[in-house]
Amino acid sequence: MRTTDWLIVGNGVVGATTACLLADAGFSVTLLDTQPRPLPTSEDWDLKTYSLTPASRRILRAIGVWSRLNPARVAPYDRMAVWEQGEEAGITFDAAANARPALGYMLEQSRLLGALHAALGARPSIERVAGTPAALESADDALELLTTDARRWRARAIAACDGGDSPLRVLAGIDCEILAYPQTAVVANVETALPHQATARQCFLPTGPLAFLPLPPANTCAIVWSTTPAEAADAVNADDASFCASLGRAFGHRLGAVLKTSPRLALPLVRRHARRYSEGRVVLVGDAAHGVHPLAGQGLNLGLLDAAVLAEQAAAAGHAGLVEPQALFRRYERQRRGEVLAMLSATDRLNRLFLYHSPWAGRLRRAGLRLTDRIDPLKRCLMAYAMGDVGDLPRLARP
Ligand SMILES: Cc1cc2nc3c(=O)[nH]c(=O)nc-3n(C[C@H](O)[C@H](O)[C@H](O)COP(=O)(O)OP(=O)(O)OC[C@H]3O[C@@H](n4cnc5c(N)ncnc54)[C@H](O)[C@@H]3O)c2cc1C
Repeated sequence: MRTTDWLIVGNGVVGATTACLLADAGFSVTLLDTQPRPLPTSEDWDLKTYSLTPASRRILRAIGVWSRLNPARVAPYDRMAVWEQGEEAGITFDAAANARPALGYMLEQSRLLGALHAALGARPSIERVAGTPAALESADDALELLTTDARRWRARAIAACDGGDSPLRVLAGIDCEILAYPQTAVVANVETALPHQATARQCFLPTGPLAFLPLPPANTCAIVWSTTPAEAADAVNADDASFCASLGRAFGHRLGAVLKTSPRLALPLVRRHARRYSEGRVVLVGDAAHGVHPLAGQGLNLGLLDAAVLAEQAAAAGHAGLVEPQALFRRYERQRRGEVLAMLSATDRLNRLFLYHSPWAGRLRRAGLRLTDRIDPLKRCLMAYAMGDVGDLPRLARP
């Protein structure tokens, strides 16, 4: 049986990116997923869209994925506004203030995966296979993964990129702290009476944040509405006209009336953090290692940084580093764990802060928002975080 350097389980955005980066670092890679992804078939925008930071863009550019995206399906935004429901004032961020062209980019999951799969196909050292992991067995200098169809895959290191429920994390015996938020996110694409002007907007309601994220054309937004599970179920089941009306009301009609909506999708929100990022020859990457609240749009951005750090550490250690990869995995975890924890607790706190309903909490929040909006260095610092420009960044992601 052939031994591959890296077996990657999960061909989502994080898995495919990890595969490209490791192949570019000179390793042989086998990429396993339960099913091949369907390519986009519709001109409508996906319900699953991502806001990606300039740091993520740099990683995707380095592996030749960004240039494969159709520019008409990438929506840069250069302003951001955040406020509390019922308040006129809030915080605004402007890319031009930092002499940057964009704060972030909206992309669809299917088109990003399409570009990633083209990039995988252009790398002969990556083999793509279908299968579902069933068991792990140690071999002398490698690890074997058995799939449910009784095939075996042998690798020096295995990267679990198989998402939040990560069956591989379970097979490797890695515990994960899991906390269900009392919120479900409703996602949809909507048309509004007023143009979005390339501005990402987020309003904090008593039940959670509601974001309108700009897509082309100028009157279309992707929305992420984190609310109670009951309200989310109503939003999904309501007829389009009543959903548009309640969405417009919740958003204080900042973009005028909501005129049209796509079907809605409800996604329960969960916070996850693996107690350790590796065990033996298995290492966790992306949502397999952590899951954050979507209010800052950072989950996938964290996963792409994981992929770039792991590949950078692996490249530095070379093939010798795979003889006993635990040292390499420890360096990866040291570089990533603190950054992930900081994002987990920042998003948690922000979410909880706006769920307090006492008058003093409201006054404190409003004062905080007004003050932050006036302190330029603080705003620049927050903006740099939101753009992925700070922290212990891998070389590929640095501005
Ligand atoms: C409402 C909402 C909005 C969000 N918005 C943003 C945003 O704007 N920006 C952002 O950065 N993040 C955002 N996120 C987070 C983002 O969606 C995730 O962080 C990201 O999708 C994780 O990617 P991944 O590749 O790690 O996992 P996944 O996308 O879950 O991919 C996992 C892959 O593993 C495969 N797999 C699963 N099980 C197995 C198995 N047993 N064997 C083999 N393969 C398997 C799957 O088929 C899939 O291909 C949002 C999340 C939510 C809920």
